[in-house]
Amino acid sequence: MKIIQRNFQFIEPLLPLESIQSIIVHHTSREHMSAEECHEFHQKERGWSGIGYNYFIEKNGSIIEGRGQHVGAHAYGYNRTSIGICMTGDFDKEIPTTEQWSSLFWLSSFMLKLYHLQPDRVLGHRELEGVQKSCPGRLIEMDEVRKQLMEYMQ
Ligand SMILES: [Zn+2]
Repeated sequence: MKIIQRNFQFIEPLLPLESIQSIIVHHTSREHMSAEECHEFHQKERGWSGIGYNYFIEKNGSIIEGRGQHVGAHAYGYNRTSIGICMTGDFDKEIPTTEQWSSLFWLSSFMLKLYHLQPDRVLGHRELEGVQKSCPGRLIEMDEVRKQLMEYMQ
């Protein structure tokens, strides 16, 4: 697998990440959204510098670099010390494609190794303190994701 660069233009210069402590999983909460559409949405409607996620996984499993190894805008209070991975979909209603699961495991395991972290550091957005939304979706069972990731990495 590989990480695809789409050379998104950010309005402000991106800042380097600090010591990474977790990987945070998100969904778009829209059934269809490409990385480009997300970049536009975050820039034009949210008024951010550009796509807020570090990496973005489309329905076909393509892994697109968003902010990469720079500070993202995806989890309030955690952006400097985490990697945000977003999958396209509304996982309150549907489940990720097989290709998305494969890409999520591959990318998460790559990032965990890079930052010397264990699979228990992969968190769903909703597991963070003060988060009210269901992100990455009610149909995603984070304990199961961590368990499968642990098996994947062995
Ligand atoms: Zn989220």
